[in-house]
Amino acid sequence: MSVIGIDLGTTNSLAAVWRNGKVELIPDALGNLMTPSVVALDGDGNILVGQAAKEEELHHPERCASSFKRFMGTEKKYSLGTREFTPEELSALVLKRIKEMAEEYLQEEVTEAVISVPAYFNNDQRYATKQAAELAGIYCERLINEPSAAALAERQEKTEEEYLLVFDFGGGTLDVSLVDCFENIVEINTIAGDNHLGGTDFDQAIASYFCNAVGIMQNALTPVQWSTLLLEARRCKETLSIQAEVEMCFVWKGNTYSQKLTPEDIFHAGKGLFLRIRDVVSKALMDGGLSPDDISKILLAGGSSCMPTVSLYLGKLFGRNIKAGTEPDYLIATGLGIYTGIKERKEEIKDIMMTDVCPFSLGVGTHFNNSDQEKMDILIERNSILPSRMAKTYIAHTDYQESIRFEIYQGEHYIPEKNLKIGTLDIEIPKAKKGEEEVVVTFSYDINGILEVNAMNPSTGNTANTTIVSGYRRLSQEQLEAQRGKIDGLKRLSKELEEQKAIFAMGERLYAQTTGGLRDAVERTLDYYRCVCNSHSPIRIRKAGRGVLQFFLNAEIQRKRTVFDTLEFQWEDLFEESEEEQ
Ligand code: ADP
Ligand code: MG
Repeated sequence: MSVIGIDLGTTNSLAAVWRNGKVELIPDALGNLMTPSVVALDGDGNILVGQAAKEEELHHPERCASSFKRFMGTEKKYSLGTREFTPEELSALVLKRIKEMAEEYLQEEVTEAVISVPAYFNNDQRYATKQAAELAGIYCERLINEPSAAALAERQEKTEEEYLLVFDFGGGTLDVSLVDCFENIVEINTIAGDNHLGGTDFDQAIASYFCNAVGIMQNALTPVQWSTLLLEARRCKETLSIQAEVEMCFVWKGNTYSQKLTPEDIFHAGKGLFLRIRDVVSKALMDGGLSPDDISKILLAGGSSCMPTVSLYLGKLFGRNIKAGTEPDYLIATGLGIYTGIKERKEEIKDIMMTDVCPFSLGVGTHFNNSDQEKMDILIERNSILPSRMAKTYIAHTDYQESIRFEIYQGEHYIPEKNLKIGTLDIEIPKAKKGEEEVVVTFSYDINGILEVNAMNPSTGNTANTTIVSGYRRLSQEQLEAQRGKIDGLKRLSKELEEQKAIFAMGERLYAQTTGGLRDAVERTLDYYRCVCNSHSPIRIRKAGRGVLQFFLNAEIQRKRTVFDTLEFQWEDLFEESEEEQ
């Protein structure tokens, strides 16, 4: 039985394990390390997860769900065709897929996982993540903050004190955290972020930039044309992290528009986005009371950190060269893999302690200068290290009042009502002139995000207490069973068939998107793969699948560059190799 680490991402998810004295990232049967966090229902009512679902999303967005991590812990429902799912159920399907993938790879049962969550995830979101694991049949004792996982990957060899800045730039979010490391302790010091800034914003910016450059009126494009252009923008953006330039192409109303792009163009296209990046980094440093020079290392995490323009820009901000160490895509999963080693007390690995911080401020509403105007009075400041305990004294502000009511809020706004109200607490006090009676209020916030509020009147010794777990609807055991039954009972293709489906869908899409030599090659490859699949030999199908997938991935890169050329593709070689293997 193994414990694995799962980076349950908004866009992609990854798994890792500690084995033979090192971290291994867990591939699926086709060798992919990333599983798209996408769930779909196909035309026959089968549930698809991962790559197959992502392909489906291009043609049938109405039957697909993605980015559901953003809505964890909320009541939001996703309709996939005729069926409805909660964000937890969708996450459970992704987790279940990863569990199966890991079981196949490790050849043993996986019953437990450590799962990473953004440091700013509140109680409800954390609880929902644990519940998703439970629905997937995985025991999850501990959630790890994503920046802590990233720091773990860095800290194995070190003991000296240092501040790390974790720059996690994903598909739709930017999270910047300062992590204070000393000896074997990893402590998140500050978190800052932008929930609406990620790789997809760059795709949009590049697509607009392209329209400007080639003279297409952006609003003349239909939604489908726009999403095709976004896909092309994304391809170019990703290509630019391995190549110095790329040709962006788009066919519209029978004309082919094309434009050469370099990283410099990305700078121009995304200027506003870079400024927003700067603001988040600056906020993290200011909240942490640090200057750029105090940071000993910048750790790049998340797919969007692969963009060379991003590391160049950060290099400018920090006045130094910044290079990605481990591949940014894999950094968090790598840290989680290390943590599974620590958790299983593997001897070859140094024990590291990780602490948590409170992602938002907690306080009570008080009357400003005895007036009726209320303001937020904070007891526990955001970024306080957990567990945290704070007390403050309040005085009665009207004559002969019999009790004081404390409204408890979480959030950063000055006006209490603009924050989230999470509870109330009443305490009786002896009748007296205003200002004569007082109450001591104590907030204790523990490592699991449970807040206890206690109020005490010193003159009588009267106390009142309330425990605020979370506003989240917790499921009873029966509800949990029913939900798990729903997930287990979904009609699914076998793993093999789902894999084949993903490959066919990808090939068919490429066929639709290409012309000339490349299209012929795609067609021949599809025909070849169909023949192999009809052979019903699992080994042959699996081996051919790998070759075909590799070919399609290369074809995807070549797509626009070779559209008008005759294709000089060594696809035959590819298959000769896979035939030999058999
Ligand atoms: P999340 O943490 O949100 O699940 P990821 O860390 O997997 O997301 O990042 C996904 C984003 O990273 C996408 O917007 C994708 O376009 C972008 N991305 C992935 N690889 C690259 C690359 N090589 N160059 C530029 N962007 C990339
Ligand atoms: Mg991520």
